[in-house]
Amino acid sequence: MTPEPHLGGVPVEEIAHRFGTPTYVYDGGSLREAYTELRAGLHPAVDLFYSLKANPNVSVTALLRAMGAGMEVSSLAELATARWAGARPEEIIMLGPGKSAEELRLAVELGIRAVVCESLDEVAAVDALSRPGRTRVLLRVNPDFTTKGSRLAMGGKPRQFGTDQETLRTAGTVLRGLRHVELAGIHVYMGTRILDAADIVHNTRGALAAATELATAIGFPLREVDVGGGLGVAYFDQETDLDLAELLTGVNAAVTDFRAAHPDCRIIMELGRYLTARSGTYLVRARSVKQSRGQQFVITDGGMNHHMAAIGVGSFVKRNFPIRSLSHPDAPATERYTLTGPLCTPEDVLGRNVALPPVAPGDLIGVERSGAYGPTASPVLFLSHGYPAEVLVLDGEAHLVRHRDTVADLLGRQQLVPPLDPDRLDPDQLWATPERTAP
Ligand SMILES: *Cc1c(COP(=O)(O)O)cnc(C)c1O
Repeated sequence: MTPEPHLGGVPVEEIAHRFGTPTYVYDGGSLREAYTELRAGLHPAVDLFYSLKANPNVSVTALLRAMGAGMEVSSLAELATARWAGARPEEIIMLGPGKSAEELRLAVELGIRAVVCESLDEVAAVDALSRPGRTRVLLRVNPDFTTKGSRLAMGGKPRQFGTDQETLRTAGTVLRGLRHVELAGIHVYMGTRILDAADIVHNTRGALAAATELATAIGFPLREVDVGGGLGVAYFDQETDLDLAELLTGVNAAVTDFRAAHPDCRIIMELGRYLTARSGTYLVRARSVKQSRGQQFVITDGGMNHHMAAIGVGSFVKRNFPIRSLSHPDAPATERYTLTGPLCTPEDVLGRNVALPPVAPGDLIGVERSGAYGPTASPVLFLSHGYPAEVLVLDGEAHLVRHRDTVADLLGRQQLVPPLDPDRLDPDQLWATPERTAP
């Protein structure tokens, strides 16, 4: 008898039985570890911020905030989530292209730590909204330098993000004329999913150099520099995790060098994926197993509607996230399966040619490293299955932290026009479907 598989110390079958499938399960211990390991080794002048975009679940956010992470938000709901998770305004920064007037007004009224402005027009808008007070602003720069390691390269190209470094260089007169913003620093984000520590170090040095250059050209004292981050985690074969020791040595040296000239300047690193990805398992159950023209298929209850990242639409070659049988974790992986979800589209493939032990209907399967860019970055309404349940395991106890969408959740926002005879069908009756649970 091999021990049954656990997630965060709770038997997987128990989680599936209590909360149903498909479900995202986040391991609180792993979240804490990702944060602590990085924090412990980072230069004390670096403040770690959590980018809610990666996983905006309020309990996940609250756990990271309790560890000491600042909050980086990009919408009204993310701002509210950060506050619900316990963050004080001075622990929050807001960034993102095309911010609404309402977002800016709320950020100004709350007095958040800084608004990261994407354009000179946005700086002027914050200035106008801030009268008679003052709001701290970071200027997001689209820098001159580039980086090769990022899957989404951001520097040195035409971009919708930030203001070109060459434009900012000559904007001193305009910017210094604004009385209700405090120009506090520079923000640079060079891209995501970087797995080579040398690239992160290169980006950090580049961001700090750009900040130094711009603060001088524009004429303001540098109080903080947000150097972005983009730290990746390995998902696919042939990828390896970042060398954290190399990263810390290089980043800390860059910060030390920079602080020699700017002893009071704070450095911000904003991270999403790195803090949450490894904590998450997308837990699905096999519904049926079939053969088609020589290939074996496992059709599960979850797919692209919850996990677009694992589907990888748009990628040239389909590469698999780490996928494991959680019903037979120690059995030899003698079979090869195409693992699909319940959607009526051939795109709905979680994994191709996945090596697994023999799978039977009812078996639990885990897509690992799935704690970042999961359901919120997926078409959850496609085929009207709705949002999956989310579970956070904390200190050996599993908590439901988001309930699965019900039919009422999905249909209750619609209006039938023109209405049918009201006596014919009571919609509440139609929606009174029990929540889907384990078989
Ligand atoms: C998406 C994003 C992040 C978070 O990126 P990760 O790769 O998940 O760490 C941070 N900053 C900006 C500006 C972003 O757009």
